[in-house]
Amino acid sequence: MTETVSSDTTRLPIVAVAAGDGIGLEITAAAMRVMEAAGARFDTREIALGEALYKSGHSSGIGPDTWDTLAEADALFKGPITTPLGSGYKSLNVTLRKTLGLFANVRPCRSLHPAVSTLHPELDIVIVRENEEDLYAGIEHRQTHEVYQTLKLVSRPGTERIIRYAFDYCRANGRKKLTCFTKSNIMKLTDGLMQNVFEEIGKEYPDIEQHHMIIDIASARLAARPQDFDVIVTSNLYGDIVSDIAAELTGSVGLGASANIGAGISMFEAIHGSAPDIAGQKIANPSGLILAGVMMLNHLGQGEVAGKIHNAWLKTIEDGLHTGDIYRDKTSKEQLGTQDFADAVIARL
Ligand code: NAD
Repeated sequence: MTETVSSDTTRLPIVAVAAGDGIGLEITAAAMRVMEAAGARFDTREIALGEALYKSGHSSGIGPDTWDTLAEADALFKGPITTPLGSGYKSLNVTLRKTLGLFANVRPCRSLHPAVSTLHPELDIVIVRENEEDLYAGIEHRQTHEVYQTLKLVSRPGTERIIRYAFDYCRANGRKKLTCFTKSNIMKLTDGLMQNVFEEIGKEYPDIEQHHMIIDIASARLAARPQDFDVIVTSNLYGDIVSDIAAELTGSVGLGASANIGAGISMFEAIHGSAPDIAGQKIANPSGLILAGVMMLNHLGQGEVAGKIHNAWLKTIEDGLHTGDIYRDKTSKEQLGTQDFADAVIARL
């Protein structure tokens, strides 16, 4: 939604910045340079998250002092973080979302046709994903040597909150249609709850066209005819998967941004991971994180600066200046590395 933080206009908002690891270091530097050049106004608190902390014995990838910094921050701007393989480590992303109460994950995906080649020129959707519950509750057991169990945890208050958020998002952003994806035909209690709540709360929003679809056929339709969708609301795991599909349909996961909205602090990041296969090569697309910065500045009440960055970024893409992931001979003019792409955006501010 477009709610903004803090009505206290005398102090600058505080933004905790974590560069992450892998390509995180490169794309965070690029995105921060763009925001600075555009005149974004916030106090920065650099924090370390992820790899270094895992290595120094913090199994969740975050040090105890960092929670204090986050407690006084208005936003967390975060590069991607590698989740170490093997048991004994917790996903930092899941820990952050649950500890900070980041209940809604908002992921806009829009076609950049004709500048970026895509099969779906009319794609323009926003996925609102429940962010704290479901199979990501992290409750897993070994029952016997051969049987393992994980719990899908869903609450009525959590479900009501995400459904209401999605309807309010539609209204606040001029979106006309909301589609809810569940598997309520099989998981009648958990997914059934989301369908029921969607239909109950939907009555309060007669101005928004409403549909419920079963996740499997909905995903197939999304891949074939994304233009049939406007805003989608769904649970944690399904939302994780369908938002990557939607971002890839626009041309590359490197273009996707997300906002993790909480009642206090909110977190802004790219939707992709740390891309170890291209880390250090200076070729990663910083667009996802630059657009996460645009979402953050809107959230912080700096819509003018956000608009300036968004337009400059769009112009860069339209001018055919592309990183390798979206570079195509037919639609691109020049292939740029991460920092040169950021410079091209800055030159168009
Ligand atoms: P990934 O998103 O890192 O990479 C998938 C593919 O997309 C790779 O081929 C990569 O090169 C490409 N890609 C991703 N971002 C790109 C960009 N900006 N520009 C160009 N190409 C890009 O997914 P993965 O390889 O499954 O995950 C790597 C690590 O990231 C894992 O440890 C995973 O847990 C972690 N991860 C972190 C986050 C996060 O911090 N929010 C999200 C997803 C995955």
